[in-house]
Amino acid sequence: ESTAPQWHRPGRFEALGPAFFTYLQPTPVPAPHWVATSASTSQLMGLNPEWLQTDEALQTLSGNAVSVPSPDGRKPLASVYSGHQFGVWAGQLGDGRAIMLGETSLGFEVQLKGAGRTPYSRGGDGRAVLRSSIREFLCSEAMAALGIPTTRALALTGSPLSVARETLETAAIVTRVAESFVRFGHFEHFAARDMQEELKALADLIIDQHYPECRTATALQGNAYANFLQAVSERTARLLAQWQAVGFCHGVMNTDNMSILGLTIDYGPFQFLDAFDPGHVCNHSDNQGRYAFNRQPQVAYWNLYCLGQALLPLIDSEELTIAALDSYKTVFPAAYATQMLSKLGLPEDAAGTAPADGRFALLVNPLLQILADNKVDYTIFFTRLTEAVQQAQEGNIDFEPLRDIILDRATFDAWSLTYSEQLAQVDQAQAADLMQKSNPCFVLRNHLGETVIRAAQGGDFAPVQQMLAVLHAPYDSHPAYADWAGFPPDWATTIEISCSS
Ligand code: AMP
Ligand code: MG
Ligand code: MG
Repeated sequence: ESTAPQWHRPGRFEALGPAFFTYLQPTPVPAPHWVATSASTSQLMGLNPEWLQTDEALQTLSGNAVSVPSPDGRKPLASVYSGHQFGVWAGQLGDGRAIMLGETSLGFEVQLKGAGRTPYSRGGDGRAVLRSSIREFLCSEAMAALGIPTTRALALTGSPLSVARETLETAAIVTRVAESFVRFGHFEHFAARDMQEELKALADLIIDQHYPECRTATALQGNAYANFLQAVSERTARLLAQWQAVGFCHGVMNTDNMSILGLTIDYGPFQFLDAFDPGHVCNHSDNQGRYAFNRQPQVAYWNLYCLGQALLPLIDSEELTIAALDSYKTVFPAAYATQMLSKLGLPEDAAGTAPADGRFALLVNPLLQILADNKVDYTIFFTRLTEAVQQAQEGNIDFEPLRDIILDRATFDAWSLTYSEQLAQVDQAQAADLMQKSNPCFVLRNHLGETVIRAAQGGDFAPVQQMLAVLHAPYDSHPAYADWAGFPPDWATTIEISCSS
């Protein structure tokens, strides 16, 4: 009896038909080896954890278990999509190096990223390097553990196969998992080609499988496609609120990198902020700063607008399309304010929705200004504040550990007075608990990624697996790994991450 994934055929995406993809096999790699696996993703998928120890799993997840038809009935495929890249219509793109093995019986789609060329590779080699694959593998899992919607990673394998980037590197393959990999760009593709039947079939599939409430919702005149656009806008708004609150910069928010399920997808030059810098641009190739940290919320709206234009033929009303998109403008600020107030230990006020909550203007905006002006480490500020509140005696908070990392202490002292007054109005134990759950000790900073990448490039993969374990429980203190919760070293600012991956 096989303990391998049970494939469900045809998968729901596959059932859409040949206009949406090309069947093809992954290209094998020489001498594949394990780099790391995620027990958490394996469990989510209902896999037998022992399967990930087998050579069959290593070969399958490296793209080497190739035969047509596959012995287990799989029919791998690469999908076609289009999109706007850096604000410009890019035309046809597609899975240029991701090959979907299939859909498991529990409804998870499984892709191998870096599994070789596809009809959508254009000039690319269809491969991914170990460096960027470690970043994608770890960050997918880190985001999930932070409670941020994301595609997941099941496994990471490597091969001595040479891959040419700025320098010669070696190949790796990430097995990524999601309930759907459909992007805004899939809709734009069929809309741009005026393929209305396919556009409708795709929307119907995603609505039926992931947004069934849109069929019956009476909002927006009962228009299921307008309801769908509104639901995607709301999920995207909540996702962006979480990115901004945790200090995550995606780096390449093109419409082909926007998940229709509101998942974080396509980990490239992403970065968690070290020192708080609202205008930070993490993608070395983003010369205009289009995807700067503080521009992300408006870029998401711009991308939703593109999705709205693509869905217009189905919604059949300009007015309803705009109304659906408008929900972003209320949901994002409300969700963001809730997130930020939680980081300060202040639960949502019964008085109303969060953006109207006076505490946001009173506390959050001035604090972010202080963090920016003083280049304060974003994650460390909030973990120190959490500790200070947890250790407060009769409401007296010792702010010294925070003052230690702030140059302009007078301004901070004034803020901390106002903060203490607000905190005194809520239950102390509840505030401390809320902060514990809202302020991670560990995020995948660039230099942490670099550290395990360098070890792995030297053949030592244990640190990848260790870092995964820490990132899987980011709110715990992990004393043995205290260094990973510390300030970035000086060399962290010299790391340049581009789209090259
Ligand atoms: P990205 O900037 O990662 O969103 O990628 C944009 C497009 O380029 C997508 O269609 C990718 O599939 C494709 N692509 C990126 N890298 C490669 C590669 N090494 N080989 C083939 N296609 C690639
Ligand atoms: Mg992409
Ligand atoms: Mg990419």
